[in-house]
Order: sequence, then C-alpha cells, then structure tokens
Amino acid sequence: MNAYLASVIEDVKSKHANEPEFVQTVEEVFSSLEPVIEKHPEYEKVDLLGRMVEPERMFTFRVVWMADDGTWHTNIGYRCQFNGAIGPYKGGLRFQPNVYPGIIKFLGFEQIFKNSLTGLPIGGGKGGADFDPTGKSDAEIMRFCQSFMQALYRYIGPDVDVPAGDMGVGAREIGYLYGEYRRLKGAFENGVLTGKGFSCGSLIRPEATGFGAVYYLQNVLEHEGEKIEGKTIACAGFGNVTWGICRKAAELGAKVVTLSGPDGYIYDPDGVVTDEKINYIVEMRASGRNKVKDYADKFGVEFHPGEKPWGVKVDICMPSAMQNDVHMEQAQQIAANGVKYYIEVANMPTTNDALKFLMEQPGMIVAPSKAVNAGGVATSALEMAQNSERLVWTEEEVDKQLHQIMNTIYQMSVDAAEQYGLGYNLVAGANIAGFQRVADAMMAQGVF
Ligand code: GLU
Repeated sequence: MNAYLASVIEDVKSKHANEPEFVQTVEEVFSSLEPVIEKHPEYEKVDLLGRMVEPERMFTFRVVWMADDGTWHTNIGYRCQFNGAIGPYKGGLRFQPNVYPGIIKFLGFEQIFKNSLTGLPIGGGKGGADFDPTGKSDAEIMRFCQSFMQALYRYIGPDVDVPAGDMGVGAREIGYLYGEYRRLKGAFENGVLTGKGFSCGSLIRPEATGFGAVYYLQNVLEHEGEKIEGKTIACAGFGNVTWGICRKAAELGAKVVTLSGPDGYIYDPDGVVTDEKINYIVEMRASGRNKVKDYADKFGVEFHPGEKPWGVKVDICMPSAMQNDVHMEQAQQIAANGVKYYIEVANMPTTNDALKFLMEQPGMIVAPSKAVNAGGVATSALEMAQNSERLVWTEEEVDKQLHQIMNTIYQMSVDAAEQYGLGYNLVAGANIAGFQRVADAMMAQGVF
C-alpha cells in the first residue's frame, strides 16, 4: 500500500483505538484511494489525508431535561463539524443510547463523501445524543429537544451547519428543535434544519432515502440487463428508510419480504406491498414500542425472534437498519443463497471483512451505502435551496431532481472506478468520486 496512506491509517488506528467504528470507516474509504494518492503526490506535502481524518470542530454539551414524573435527567449532546470545504456542515442527529464519539465521528466521516457525491454544496457533519427515545412521552421528547437546542443553537445556522434527522429523530423532533431555535434567535431562519414536517419542509423528504435507494438499484439492474419487476427484496429495520423502499418497490412491481427490529425479523412472502401494510410501518414506528413482531401479529406472517433476515432466499439484499448489521456469518449466508445484488442502505451496515468477502463473490454486485442512501441528504439540500428562495417545489419537481441526482451518483461512481482501471467497482468508485471533489476544494482553499 502507498506509504503515506498506510501511515495515516496506522495513525488513526493508534490514536482512536477506542473508536472502532470510526477506524473502520476510515479504513474502508482509504482502502479505495491508493491509485488516487499515487497519482497526486502533492497531497502528502500538505498532509491532506491527515487533515481529512481530523474534524474541523467537535464538541459535546450537557442536555438536562425533566421526565413526566418530575425527575431530572442529564444526557450528552454531540455535534461534529467534520469538513466544511464544499459547503455548510450537513448531516443528521441520532438519538440512541449507544451514541458516543466513535459513532458520531464514523457517521460524520461517511457524510463528507456521501454529501460530496450528491454534487450539491454541503459539507459533512453529524450529531446526536446518548438519549433513548423508546417509551418516552411526547412531552418528554419535546423537553429533551428544547434543551438540546438551547445548547446547540449558537453553533449552527443556514450557512454554518444544518442538522437533520437520523435514527431516533424524525419530523416531530425536527419540529420541536426548530421551534426552540426560532424562539432563541427571534428569526425565521428555516434553512437551519432539514426534514421539517410543517409548511417549509420539502415534499418527498420523508420518502427520499428509500426512493433514492431504489432509483440507484434500478441503475444497477439496468447495467445487468434486468428489471425490478417481480424481484424479491430483503430489508432490515422498519424505520423511515425501509418504509420508503417498500413504497417505491411496490409501485415498481417488486416486493420487500422481510423487515427486522431489535426483537427479530418478519417474513411476509406476499410482500409489504399494500397501502395497509406500508402505512402500518409508520404506525409501528410511531408507537415507540420498537417491536417488529407487531407486524407479524397484525398480518399473520412468520416472526423469527432474535434472528436477522439475511438467511432468507431473495433476489436482492438491502440492509437498511444500522451499522455492522451484516457480519461474516450473514455474508456467507447471503452468498450461499446465491443473492446477486447486495445493496447497502444503512450507514456502514457491513463489517469490513464481510464487505470484502461479498465483493469477492463472483457475479455478486455490491453497492455502497454512501452512494445508495445519499438521496436523503440530497433532498435535504433541495430543502435548503427551497428555503433560501422562500418557495416550495411540487412533489414532481423534487422527485425528478432526486431521481436525476441518484442517476448521476451511480454514473460518477462507475466512471471514477473505470478511470483508475478498477473495472465495475461501485464501492471504490463512490469512495474515489466522493473524495476527489472534497480534495480539490481543500487544495484550493489553502492549508489549515
Ligand atoms: N441522516 C441522514 C444521512 O445519514 C440524512 C442527513 C441529512 O438529511 O442531513 O444521510
């Protein structure tokens, strides 16, 4: 491996051994960059890679809130403003008990390259809190969000840093966060947050990640001379992203046959295709119970407690739940089932050894999450554009632009891999294309 590249990876490993998810994503992205670094010796002189793995700014803050029973609780809030070379920091907020700096930094690092791939002016950022929304009342969620924003509002803004949702943060939370921001600032700066569910949010934003993933998948299928109609898809999770995939897949004549949760997975051979079933996903999520078994109880399908859906024989696997869902054991099952399309959707859903194994399977096509799920943040950037011009675009307009962006991301990835003689390698292509745009902007702006 190129000596400079290897030394930066070694440095990250030794400095951040206590942040394994961050180390994992740096290794994953950098493992594709060797030919680029070889071609650009000037990067080493200004330590471009060493600067890229260090956030421009990252901070924690105290979030104190009162539960309904009158007791007070304290959580840790985070914001990582990782790289602002191509635009205001942009990325979601994750509320989940396992949030710690390693998770925030891995998500922030991924976000740099994902946002770059969209071709839009958005830098990379991420934030969140080690707060568990499960079972919390609406009033508790509101008080938590208000307290979170009281600490954060000074450090964000429509041209500075624009948070959005991620796991545990949806339109309701964004609404409460925005309300508090507006109250504190005394101004209607609606571009400060995206994923707003009220009047100045973007149409199609809730669907965008799932729809975008399916648009990307269609490009892959087309490359293989296949069509999406009639295909069976295994998904994980039952959040907003999986919901969007179910909807678009059903509309195009394919069917999602598995959903999963922390309690296990469901198998619905008829597919999550009817409006009733698709709408029930939203209901299950909103209930705050976090149990996918509810779907099996309601529709009388199989429920497999404590298991993951990756042993089910399908045409396409779309891991859409969370990081490191697919380990070597599941990857081997997927390969043994003869699955041809492994389309990552959640941020880093595959461990690095499992990803390498899947990419080596003859005939299997692997697409990386930072490209496949970029439709969400791309539509957030479209929401920022609408907010800046104080207009709301039609559903058709947003969907048309989203579709176009996904096609371009796919094509840019294909071209970047080909340009460096790597063949049809969507993983390396996305890493290289995402990296190049940020690298060019950093080189142009001087060393800091
Ligand atoms: N959390 C989403 C992601 O991982 C969306 C971020 C955004 O819209 O800013 O890309």
